[in-house]
Amino acid sequence: MLLPANPDVLDGVDDLIQMSYLNEPSVLYNLQLRYSRDLIYTKAGPVLIAVNPLKEVPLYGKTSIMQYKKKTKDDPHVYAVADLAFNEMLRDCINQSIIISGESGAGKTETAKIAMQYLAALGGASGMESEVLQTNVILEALGNAKTSRNDNSSRFGKLIEIYFSETGKMCGAKIQTFLLEKSRVVQRAQGERSYHIFYQLCSGAPPFLKKKLFLKSANDYNYLKQSNCLRIDGVNDSNKFTALVDALDTIQISKEDQMKLFSMLAAVLWMGNISFSVIDTENHVEVVSNEGLATAAKLLGCTSNQLVTAMSTRKIRAGNDSIIKKLTLPQAIDARDALAKSIYAHLFDWVVEQINHSLGTGRQCTWRSISILDIYGFECFNKNGFEQFCINYANERLQQHFNRHLFKLQQEEYLEDGIDWAPVEFVDNTDCLSLFEKKPLGLLSLLDEESTFPKATDLSFANKLKQQLSGNSCFKGEQEGTFKICHYAGEVTYDTSGFLEKNRDPLHSDSIQLLSSCKCELPKHFASVMVADSQNKSSQSWHSVVDTQKQSVVTKFKVQLFKLMQQLESTTPHFIRCIQPNGKQCPRLFEHDLVLHQLKCCGVLEVVRISRTGYPTRMTHHQFAERYGFLLLRSIASQDPLSVSIAVLQQLNIPPEMYQVGYTKLFFRTGQIAALENAKRKM
Ligand code: ATP
Ligand code: MG
Repeated sequence: MLLPANPDVLDGVDDLIQMSYLNEPSVLYNLQLRYSRDLIYTKAGPVLIAVNPLKEVPLYGKTSIMQYKKKTKDDPHVYAVADLAFNEMLRDCINQSIIISGESGAGKTETAKIAMQYLAALGGASGMESEVLQTNVILEALGNAKTSRNDNSSRFGKLIEIYFSETGKMCGAKIQTFLLEKSRVVQRAQGERSYHIFYQLCSGAPPFLKKKLFLKSANDYNYLKQSNCLRIDGVNDSNKFTALVDALDTIQISKEDQMKLFSMLAAVLWMGNISFSVIDTENHVEVVSNEGLATAAKLLGCTSNQLVTAMSTRKIRAGNDSIIKKLTLPQAIDARDALAKSIYAHLFDWVVEQINHSLGTGRQCTWRSISILDIYGFECFNKNGFEQFCINYANERLQQHFNRHLFKLQQEEYLEDGIDWAPVEFVDNTDCLSLFEKKPLGLLSLLDEESTFPKATDLSFANKLKQQLSGNSCFKGEQEGTFKICHYAGEVTYDTSGFLEKNRDPLHSDSIQLLSSCKCELPKHFASVMVADSQNKSSQSWHSVVDTQKQSVVTKFKVQLFKLMQQLESTTPHFIRCIQPNGKQCPRLFEHDLVLHQLKCCGVLEVVRISRTGYPTRMTHHQFAERYGFLLLRSIASQDPLSVSIAVLQQLNIPPEMYQVGYTKLFFRTGQIAALENAKRKM
C-alpha cells in the first residue's frame, strides 16, 4: 500500500501533530531522522517521546538548563516538561506529577534523574537539592542490577515526591517504593547480577571495614558467583562504593547506621555460604559447621546454634505442646533463602525510611510538590512468572490513568458541552483490568483464594483459572500450567510455577523468632516489622504469627497501587514515554519494528490524533468575557458572557475553525490563547 508522504519541509518536525499525514511510516521516519541528529526528544501532542540514545548526547548541563529556564529554547526536552510542571505548580497551586513509562532499558531512570536535576537547578540554593539528587545513588546501589536487557535495571518501582515552598524553593522529598524483586538476592538468570551494592561492598570496602565484616571477594560468595557474572563492562564497583558512601554522608545517614547497613549485607552474603548435609534416607539435613555459619551468626548477633536451629528444624505446635521437626534438603534451602531475601527486603525498606527521615518533610515549608514516577515497564520474556504478572498488572493500571487523562476526560467534556466532535477511538483496557481485579472471580482473588489452601499447587491454580475465567475475552487457559493474558501492550503467556509460594511469601515463625532474639538492632527491628505486618496485630509477639495469616503479596501490591493512583489523581499529570531504539543496547541503531511496537502499544499515535483535532484550551464563557471583554471597541446590546465572548472572537478575527462554543465553555485549538494574549498586550 502506498501512503501519502509528508512534504520535505516537515522532515524532522519536533511535534508529531505538525505532520500533515499521520501514518506509521511517516512517524517512524520522522523519529529516526531526529534520532540520527541526536534529537532524541519529540513531542506527541501533550506527551514527550524520549528515544534512548545509549551514548552521551550534548543536550544537558548548566547552559542548556538556563536556556529552558529563561525560555530562550523550546525544543522538546525533559527540561521543558519539568519546567512546565514547575510553573504550573506555582501558577495553579496544584501538585504536579511526571509519569515516566517504557520498557526495561528504555531510559526511565535516566529521564527521571534529568528531570530531578532540572528541578534542583530551579529550586536550588536551599542545600536540599544535592541531598535529593544523591538519593538516586543510594537507591540504585540497593535496588538496581544488571539484567540481560539493561546493565542498570531498576528492580523496584519508585515515586519521589519533591516538595517546594511557595517561592519555588526545593525543601524536601519523600520516596515511596514498590515491590522490590527480592528473589534476585538468592537466584537469577545466568549472566545477570544481584544488586549492585553487594559487588560494590566487596570490591570497595576499606581494609578496616573488610576486617570488621569478615569480607572476602565477590567470587567467594555463592549468592554472587552462581550466575557467572561478577563485573559489568565499563563500571568500576570500587569507585561506585566510594560514591555510595559519599551519598550516604550527604543524606546524613550516620556512620553507625552505615555500619549496620553494611553488616546486614555481609550477613546475607555469608548466609548464602551456609550448606547442608543429608543425614538419613528421608533427605533430612544437618547444617554444616563452616565459616558461612559462624560468620553469619556473628554478623546477625546470634549464636551458631540458634542459626542452625532456624535453618534445619521447624517447631510445630500440636495442641499445647510443640514438637521439633527436622527439615529436608529443599526445605532447609528454602528456609535459608527466605530468610536472606526477607532480611534484604526489610533492609531496603529501612534505608528508604532513613532517607525519608533525613529529607524529612516535618519542616514547615512544604507547600506543593512535584512527583516523579519511575516504575518498571511492561515485560514479556520467553518465560514469564509471578514477577511479570505483578509488573504487567501495574502497567495496566498506569495505562488506564494515561487513557483517562488523554482520551476519556477530554472527550467526555466535549460531549457534555455539546460541541461538534467525532470521537477518537483508543484501546480501552478496562476489560483487562477487571480481569485482574474483579471479585470474587478475578485473577487476584483467585490467586489469593488458592494461596490459602494448603493442598493447592501451581497446577491446581492454573486449572482453577481455566475453569473460572474461560469466558473472559482477555484470558486464555493454556496447557501445562500456563495461561495467557491479552494486555494493552500485547499477549503474554505466564507460567504458574512458583505463583502460590511467591504470593504467600512465607517466613516461618522460627526465622522471625531467630531475628527477634538477635543482639544486633536491625534484625530485631525487622522481626518487629514482620510481626506488625501480619494481620494479627493485636498480640505483638512472634508466637502469634502463623505463616499464612499475613497479607498476600498481590493484595499488598494492589493496595499500594490504588494508593498511588489516588495520589496521582490529585495532581496535574505530565507524561513521558521512553522508547528503546533496539534490542542490543547499542547506540545509533534504530529498529523500526521494535520502535513501532512500543509506540503502538502505549497509544501515542492516538494521542497525536486527538491533539491535532482537539481543543486543549478551554474557558467558561464567564471567565473569557471577564478576561477579554474589555478589548471590545463597540459596546454590544447584551452583556451576557456568551454574547460578549462571541463579539470579542469576531472582532479579533479568530477563524471559526479554531474554536467551538459549548453550553458552558469555549474550546480552543492550540495556539489561539497566545493570539488573544497578544491582542491584550497591545491594548
Ligand atoms: P529498567 O526498567 O530496566 O530500569 P530504564 O527504563 O530505567 O530500565 P535506564 O536505566 O534509565 O532504563 O537506561 C538504560 C541505559 O540507557 C542507561 O544506563 C544509559 O546507559 C542509557 N541512557 C538512558 N537514557 C539516556 C540519556 N538520556 N542519555 C544517555 N544515555 C542514556
Ligand atoms: Mg530503571
